[in-house]
Amino acid sequence: MSGPWPDTGIASLWCDMADTELDLPCLRGDAQADVVIIGAGYTGLTAAHRLAQLGVAPLVVDAKSVGWGASGRNGGVVSAKFRLAFPAIAQGHGMEVARRMHRLAQQSVNEVESLVEEYGLVGARFTRCGNLRCAHTERAFGYIAEEAEWMRRELGDDSLFTLSASEVAEETGSSAFTGGVLSRGVGTLHPLNYVRGLAEGLTQRHGAILFERTPVTGIRRDANGIRVVTEQGEIRARQAIMATNAYSDLTPASSMVKSRLVPFRSSIIATEVLPAALQQRLLVHARSYGETRRMMRWFRKVDGRIVFGGRGAFGKRDSKAAFDALQWAMVGLFPDLAEVSVTHRWSGHVGMTMDALPHVGRFDDRLSYAAGYNGAGVAMSTLLGRLAADFAIGESPNVALLEASRLKAVPLYPLREVAVRLVAGWYQFLDAIGR
Ligand SMILES: Cc1cc2nc3c(=O)[nH]c(=O)nc-3n(C[C@H](O)[C@H](O)[C@H](O)COP(=O)(O)OP(=O)(O)OC[C@H]3O[C@@H](n4cnc5c(N)ncnc54)[C@H](O)[C@@H]3O)c2cc1C
Repeated sequence: MSGPWPDTGIASLWCDMADTELDLPCLRGDAQADVVIIGAGYTGLTAAHRLAQLGVAPLVVDAKSVGWGASGRNGGVVSAKFRLAFPAIAQGHGMEVARRMHRLAQQSVNEVESLVEEYGLVGARFTRCGNLRCAHTERAFGYIAEEAEWMRRELGDDSLFTLSASEVAEETGSSAFTGGVLSRGVGTLHPLNYVRGLAEGLTQRHGAILFERTPVTGIRRDANGIRVVTEQGEIRARQAIMATNAYSDLTPASSMVKSRLVPFRSSIIATEVLPAALQQRLLVHARSYGETRRMMRWFRKVDGRIVFGGRGAFGKRDSKAAFDALQWAMVGLFPDLAEVSVTHRWSGHVGMTMDALPHVGRFDDRLSYAAGYNGAGVAMSTLLGRLAADFAIGESPNVALLEASRLKAVPLYPLREVAVRLVAGWYQFLDAIGR
């Protein structure tokens, strides 16, 4: 048990289930490193891991604590996909690009697995239990079944299987779906144990230096490199990596990331431990599950509880109405859960981009970054953190459509919240009428 996060009061299920708590110092005075990394989520820590492997000394700072951002709060669904479907990528950019993007997606999950093995992260509970995408209409089922067939034929992806409505009902315990596509290679993990385990592995096995409660307030360049200014000291380095993603609004230092992302609140609820009979009937293979709706809801079973996520409240704060809406959606799919109590409610921000893809690369000759996972970043940030480190040391890996120059600033940034509400409302309408 580790209780709520300091600063937020958020008491997620993951906090209550956490194996360890970290107690890392804050930076007092000046420091030096080869590469300084701003942000201690998956992106920042996997960048640090890559650098340590290469014998380059990383120093990581976080304004709050390790995993305080999305990395410690997410649903723990480990997927190998982008928000943009592979057939659409092939249509817009050709088969070669689609194949490279598919390899990057597969590699992202392999990267999680290899880090879990290297650091012995048993508490991360990583398992390739598979993901079942459940169609909410006949039309949606036709679309995902066709997509799966295309993936098998064109990309040789033999991890995808089409399931009928009755097979999905048997597996999920819900009769709300018209069919589904099972993806076998992907899985789930315990997000907070994973991020804390990465930090422990880095400090204990690689001797990396990590500081918590150390907000970066400015970034300056001089002839020798880069100077990262914090409240109580300055860090001199040759290179810096910005790994602040959807939390880039904490200080103005990360405004170049902030101006390129639209933050969107994603919320999660967890039920009490279900009675044994219900546990046996619902989500029998304990995979992760997602819907085909544009405003997608996802769910999984964790230690006999149902964990259910989807869109959160608009604006700066959580709202009871948004959590209630999630609970109604859950009961709509699983009427058996009508009398079951919800014990945990929490939320966090995901970073959406204009082209629905994450990006990695250099802002300039001193500053690299990876960001914009569009709500599917557990595996992808694990890979892109590594690639951001490669960019920082002067390499230029082939990242296809994820390259930095494609990450565009959000036009009319001050109006982004209004735009988010309009788009979400329109998507909900299309979902409701089955389009
Ligand atoms: C509720 C929720 C559910 C999700 N579910 C899933 C899921 O099931 N599967 C999936 O694949 N993805 C999911 N995601 C997305 C995924 O969690 C993220 O894409 C991923 O964690 C991003 O990691 P990151 O390291 O880039 O950013 P973060 O983990 O957000 O880390 C950014 C860090 O930067 C720090 N920071 C910011 N500014 C400064 C500063 N000035 N100085 C120092 N530090 C600073 C912050 O304190 C923070 O710790 C979910 C996200 C949320 C919010």
